Amino acid sequence: KSLVVAIDGPSGSGKSSVSKEVARRLKLAYLDTGAMYRALTWLCLDSGTDLDDGAAVEAAAENLVLEISTSPLEDYVRVGGTDVTLAIREPAISAAVSAVATTLGARTELIRRQRELIKKHHHRMVVEGRDITTVVAPHAEVRMLLTASAEARLRRRGIQLGGSQNAEQLAAQVTLRDAKDSTVVNFTRAADGVVTLDSSELDFAQTVDAALGI
Ligand code: C5P
Repeated sequence: KSLVVAIDGPSGSGKSSVSKEVARRLKLAYLDTGAMYRALTWLCLDSGTDLDDGAAVEAAAENLVLEISTSPLEDYVRVGGTDVTLAIREPAISAAVSAVATTLGARTELIRRQRELIKKHHHRMVVEGRDITTVVAPHAEVRMLLTASAEARLRRRGIQLGGSQNAEQLAAQVTLRDAKDSTVVNFTRAADGVVTLDSSELDFAQTVDAALGI
């Protein structure tokens, strides 16, 4: 029986760790679509692709040789055989990823691959990202928007506001990425039929329980 659990939300909402744990508990496959955008960004930077050149970024998406874990028990991402699991989490990637993710041709290609992976897993998968509930899998059995206050999201990333200048800069980067991302996909408000789960006042275990409840 199909069970696609679509989870959208901004960075720092706890989306990845919660989604992974939900997949483990329900014995479902798991897909981090953000990691796919990050992998494509890694390829563009590695190959010197101009991120402002939409056609070039789209071509890079079409040529992307990607291997990504679809198990919540494993974490790996490989591009053309190179292990980029850690590299795609670097600040340089986080800073550039929105430019790649706002290239519509590249999105079309990654969305196609995401749907293919869902199908390959017989529609039994937790899929997390920004546009899963609305675009990638609008017919998912469960659709959830995981939110958290700006303060809680920064706190989870270890950023203490009112602290150092470095902290203020980090906070500004996160806010800027969210602002850029929301020009393409609106993940700040739940679409019709999507349940909002606000984790601001919940710890990890409580958030997982609430998600399983939904
Ligand atoms: O989830 P994560 O923060 O790793 O996502 C990285 C970036 O990938 C986001 O900032 C966004 O630009 C892009 N993204 C997207 N659509 C998704 C998932 C991620 O545009 N479904």
